[in-house]
Amino acid sequence: MGTVVDTPNKEANRSLTAEKKVAVVFVLGGPGSGKGTQCANIVQHYGFTHLSAGDLLRAEIKSGSENGTMIQNMIKEGKIVPSEVTIKLLQRAMQESENDKFLIDGFPRNEENRAAFESVTKIEPEFVLFFDCSEEEMERRLLSRNQGREDDNIETIRKRFKVYVESSMPVIEHYNAREKVRKIDAAKPVEEVFEAVKVVFAPFEKELQKATEVFFKLLPMDYEKDQLYHSLALTATMLVLFK
Ligand code: UDP
Ligand code: MG
Repeated sequence: MGTVVDTPNKEANRSLTAEKKVAVVFVLGGPGSGKGTQCANIVQHYGFTHLSAGDLLRAEIKSGSENGTMIQNMIKEGKIVPSEVTIKLLQRAMQESENDKFLIDGFPRNEENRAAFESVTKIEPEFVLFFDCSEEEMERRLLSRNQGREDDNIETIRKRFKVYVESSMPVIEHYNAREKVRKIDAAKPVEEVFEAVKVVFAPFEKELQKATEVFFKLLPMDYEKDQLYHSLALTATMLVLFK
């Protein structure tokens, strides 16, 4: 679990600083690998809030913000928007949400995004859900989805694939080296892909979460800071539930 800290504008505002513990899962994979589609399924089943970095950037363009034109040009070229801009949007969305579990979809897109997010928010993802799909299949999906996106044309798609391979794959490798990547074969039909996703999200099963909370309340200590107690409580709960 990481924390989202509401940065106060002035020293005098310090008392208003809100700190919130959150669980974050990064959802990564090439353009058209099915991140958005599967995130909608995960939201339904596991009570996460879906934050698509691309959607937040597109909303920022529409809102007429001063960064709008810059963001629009970068998206049209398939380039990565400066970390500062995207991180601010993500942080704001997490602070404004009542939820404490987030799927961050399509971010971090490069190593700089990743390092900046980590140092600004101090959040480490629980794991990285990685949708693995061939370029041919992703291209086919992007060209047939008709969502009216300015970047779903063959010219921009090629650029996005290049950025993905050169800049985004190193992020997946970074987390892979730390055993945080949960790789899913995303070339299959939506339902089959979701079956594989469910296996990864089993620990977030609503009933199990509820039972775990009850179990935690029975413990006379502050186990939250201690991963060992966390695992013990979870194991015990599972034994009770699935005996
Ligand atoms: N984008 C970005 N930073 C992000 C997420 C998206 O700069 O963290 C930009 C980038 O230009 C990308 C575009 O937004 O090509 C579309 O991203 P989105 O995640 O919506 O596309 P997807 O990969 O899901 O097709
Ligand atoms: Mg998307």
